[in-house]
Amino acid sequence: MSDIALKSVKELSDMLAKGEISSVELTKAYIERTAALDGKVHAFLFKDERLALDGAEASDKRRARGETLGALDGIPVSLKDVIAVENQPLTCASKMLEHYVSPYTATSVKNLQARGAVLWGRLNMDEFAMGSSCENSAFGPTHNPWDLSRIPGGSSGGSAAAVAACFCACSLGSDTGGSIRQPASLCGVVGMKPTYGLVSRYGLAAFASSLDQIGPFARTVQDAAMLLGAVASYDPKDSTSVKVPIPDYAANLDENWLKGKKLGLPKEYLPDGLDAQVRAAIEKSVEKCAAAGAQIVEISLPHTELAIPVYYIIATAEASSNLARYDGVRYTHRSAKAKDIVDLYYKSRAEGFGEEVKRRIILGSYVLSSGYYDAYYLRAQKVRTLIRRDFEKAFESGIDAVIAPTSPSAAFKLGEKVSDPLEMYLNDIFTINVNLAGLPGISVPCALSAEGLPIGFQIIGKPFDEQNLLSCAHSCEELFGMRGVLPNLQ
Ligand code: GLN
Repeated sequence: MSDIALKSVKELSDMLAKGEISSVELTKAYIERTAALDGKVHAFLFKDERLALDGAEASDKRRARGETLGALDGIPVSLKDVIAVENQPLTCASKMLEHYVSPYTATSVKNLQARGAVLWGRLNMDEFAMGSSCENSAFGPTHNPWDLSRIPGGSSGGSAAAVAACFCACSLGSDTGGSIRQPASLCGVVGMKPTYGLVSRYGLAAFASSLDQIGPFARTVQDAAMLLGAVASYDPKDSTSVKVPIPDYAANLDENWLKGKKLGLPKEYLPDGLDAQVRAAIEKSVEKCAAAGAQIVEISLPHTELAIPVYYIIATAEASSNLARYDGVRYTHRSAKAKDIVDLYYKSRAEGFGEEVKRRIILGSYVLSSGYYDAYYLRAQKVRTLIRRDFEKAFESGIDAVIAPTSPSAAFKLGEKVSDPLEMYLNDIFTINVNLAGLPGISVPCALSAEGLPIGFQIIGKPFDEQNLLSCAHSCEELFGMRGVLPNLQ
């Protein structure tokens, strides 16, 4: 099988520029590899080969005319099935939206189209982005390409697996509490959650609007920087979009960034019960950063342990409101068994939503109900402020970036945690704070466990300081020696 599929976006972009390959050849390589191997992984929920090849042909023609739209022109990018593209399905991995076709395109995707990227398929996820293992998909789980008996992480499990398995050059996911970084960590790829407000949420099906952000998955930090630079933009259609300069992140990566920088290692992120292999991998990576000239400072983010309860109050509250639109009347699944309008709402939602989504709607409605609002929702909002202040204080003390594990363990077995939602929620312990504080965070592969499973190293940056965060990640990637280490999927 062709190995162009395994190359980085940067390498492919250079090859396209030199005329060594065409976008059609490249797109065919991904189509063929996906056809041969996705039966094992199940990263894709929808593929339209013709559409992808049409995009590739258009790109090749532009290039022949000397009208190339930039470094991503002709590069196949796959999307999590929560990001809208006109005339394509948008299922959010839910029976509720199984037959829904989007009438419009997300701003992030319009930005990609304006740069000539080839859209290649839609990727599996936990239903409505709720989960940490991809097992909540109504259409069956994705398998981890490193070990098919294990989960790829979630909720953007398909986006991470597709990049690890080289079914696409790079992909987009969404991160509400870790859904980009955690699956990136478990699949051994780079995954980044940008600062809240950097990438437009217009066209991203809402889970928890104050936390959701779209971000890139790629096989290298440089590729993630290229993709982020392409999708980020101020968007008047998203009222929380922020107008900030968007530099050419990929061109400005500094690979000597670590020298003289202060990295804060929060003591709460290496708790006693942490998986021994994750601890060892993080400690070793921290030593490598120190050897490269970084100063490692132990810091404290004292409200860390409150993140899980705070997140599961705020995220479920927002979800219960956002998911009220799926009522069986407008564009969603409609029960054929309803007796009257109330029964129609009830049965359509009972049939359309999966267990985890229902659990969260019930929890969210509860914490917002009168009598409980002050005790739960309002208090959670106050603690959210304290969590944000923890980070602000760390950065004010002169820390350049915070470093931590991404996930408390490597990929676990399919089925291992499905019957225990609380156990599943604990997977998010190191990622959720970043969303609550609105900060950018990235996961970079740092080691393989004894079982040969990837372990991720998380770096958290200052708001809208993506350039420094990416330079830090790029320098770390160089030290960790995991760039180009891919699963042996055949
Ligand atoms: N695992 C977390 C949850 O289940 C985060 C999901 C996400 O980031 N979309 O809510």
